Amino acid sequence: MSAVYNFCAGPAMLPVPVMVKAQSEFLNWNNTGCSVMELSHRSKEFMAVATKAEADLRQLMSIPDNYKVLFCHGGGRGQFSAVPLNLLPANKSADYIITGSWSKAAANEAENFGLINKINVVEKVNGQRQIKDSSQWPLDKNAAYVHYCPNETVDGLELFDIPETHGVPLVADLSSTILSREIDVSKFALIYAGAQKNIGPSGLTIVIVREDLLGSADVKTPCIFNYQTEADNSSMYNTPPTYAWYLAGLVFEWLIDSGGVKAISSINKEKAQLLYQFVDNSKFYRNDIASQHRSLMNVPFWLVDESLNNAFLEQAKSAGLLALEGHRMVGGMRASIYNAMPIEGVQKLVNFMREFEKGNS
Ligand code: PMP
Repeated sequence: MSAVYNFCAGPAMLPVPVMVKAQSEFLNWNNTGCSVMELSHRSKEFMAVATKAEADLRQLMSIPDNYKVLFCHGGGRGQFSAVPLNLLPANKSADYIITGSWSKAAANEAENFGLINKINVVEKVNGQRQIKDSSQWPLDKNAAYVHYCPNETVDGLELFDIPETHGVPLVADLSSTILSREIDVSKFALIYAGAQKNIGPSGLTIVIVREDLLGSADVKTPCIFNYQTEADNSSMYNTPPTYAWYLAGLVFEWLIDSGGVKAISSINKEKAQLLYQFVDNSKFYRNDIASQHRSLMNVPFWLVDESLNNAFLEQAKSAGLLALEGHRMVGGMRASIYNAMPIEGVQKLVNFMREFEKGNS
C-alpha cells in the first residue's frame, strides 16, 4: 500500500484490512452472486449481517441487555433533533453542556423543540482552555435530561470523566469518541454517534438507548426518528443504509480481532501523546488546551507563524499527509487520529513537522 495517511475528521480513514475484505467480496458476497448493497434488507442473508454487527458492537462496548441498539439514518445532526423529540416533554427543560461547537450546535437545534438550558463550562486558566469540573455545573435536578459531547471534534477538547447527574438521564454525542476508549454504557440513558469516524462510512448513525426511555416521543416526531418505532422494527421500519451497516460490521470484526476497545485505547493514547509531546516541546507549534482535556482523537495545533500555514499544508500533502487543515471556525491545523490511523501515520506526521520546523526556523 502507498504510505498516504488521511487525517480527515470525518469521513475518516477506514482500516485497510476492512477495505481489502470489502473489495474482495464487493461483487459476490458470500456466494450469493450479488453485492451486499443489492440484497434486500429483509433477506435472511442481510439479516444475518445486521444481527452479527449488532452483537459485535454489544460485545465491544459491553452494552447491557436493557439497552436497544439502533442503526439509523440522519447523522449526528439528525440526533440533535431526535433527542429532544423523543425525550423532552412540553412541561420540562433539558440541560445542554457547552464545551465547543458541536455541543453548541446540538443545543441550538434542540431549541426548535423545547426549553433548553445552555451551560457553558469552558474556562481559560493560565492561558489554557479547560472544562470546569462537573461537580460545579449548575444542573437542574428536574431537567428531562442532560446532554453533553465528551469529545469536541472541532475544538479538540475531551472530557474523560462521566458527569454525575444525580439520576437525571445523561445523553451523550459520542460521534468522535465511540470505540476509541472504554466507556461504561450503563451510566448513560442514551448515546448516539455518526458512523464516519470510528465505525464506518457516513450514512449510518448508531443510537444506544435504555429501554425505559422509549415510547414518550412527541406525536409530531417523524417515524424514522422515533426510537420506539425503530426499536420495534429492528431498525428496519424504512430501508436502512445497508452497505454502511455491513461495513460497520467489518470494522467491528476488525476491532475485535485487534484486541477490542481496551487494546485500541492504549494505542490511541500512545498516538496522541506522541503528537502532543512533540508540539509541547516545540516553539514553532502550539496547542492551548489543558493536558487533562486534550482530545485523543482530534489534535488541533497552530503554527506560531500562521503565514506558513499554506506552505505547511501543501508540503504535508506532497509527503502523503492529507487533510490536516483545521476546521474553518478555529483555523490552524487538526490531525484526526481515529482508530484506523496506525501509529506509523502519527510518527510520519511528527517527522514531517520536525523537518518543516527545521526548514522554516
Ligand atoms: N457531533 C459531533 C461530535 C461531530 O463531530 C459531528 C460531525 N463531525 C456531528 C455531531 C455532526 O454529524 P453529521 O455530520 O453526521 O450530522
